[in-house]
Amino acid sequence: MARNWKSADSGVWAVSESATRYGPDVALVVVDLQNDFADPAGSLSVRGGTEIVPIVNREIRLALAAGAAVAYTQDWHPDHTPHFAQDGGIWPVHCVHDTWGAELHADLLVSGPIVRKGTHGEDGYSGFSMRNPNGGVPVPTELDGELASGGVKRLVVCGLATDYCVKATALDGVRLGYETAILLDAVRAVDLEPGDGGRALEALAEAGITLVAGRREVA
Ligand SMILES: [Zn+2]
Repeated sequence: MARNWKSADSGVWAVSESATRYGPDVALVVVDLQNDFADPAGSLSVRGGTEIVPIVNREIRLALAAGAAVAYTQDWHPDHTPHFAQDGGIWPVHCVHDTWGAELHADLLVSGPIVRKGTHGEDGYSGFSMRNPNGGVPVPTELDGELASGGVKRLVVCGLATDYCVKATALDGVRLGYETAILLDAVRAVDLEPGDGGRALEALAEAGITLVAGRREVA
């Protein structure tokens, strides 16, 4: 069994990399590694977003070499949505369809399906489901079907941002019956309020999600 230790970054308990051993029943889910989040010039730039790209690429190579699936989520909004502050929501305009900000980061290795979310004005936090910000039931994306039909049982989640889309995607993964892990060195938080990222990780650990510390060779 993996050895536990306290993660200096998050203040929560994490286990070693053995929890992410890739195989054909695993999918690496790369959440929203898009210019508006990952690039310093993005409209909702997440601190440290760019520095996780090579770490995510390393995971993608490991996953593919072991026969695991890799899937990507992409926030993909209309020009106006109640998700945006200009339309009554809380976020600056970001990841508007067919713009530079919505594109996946240019350095990201892309080898697998890309699942878009928020396309019809929903909030689109989770890669698995979207919810109208004004209420209503969550609408599933195609991600669960894609993964389940490929025999995926376990998820490894990375990307942006820890306290929103990574969190929502991982929680949905557990709800849908996947054994789910998060790579701590391959996620970063928005931290709208200081400590949001750490609190999100605590909530994820409580929900049964495995928090995986960084691989030692790049520590
Ligand atoms: Zn969004």
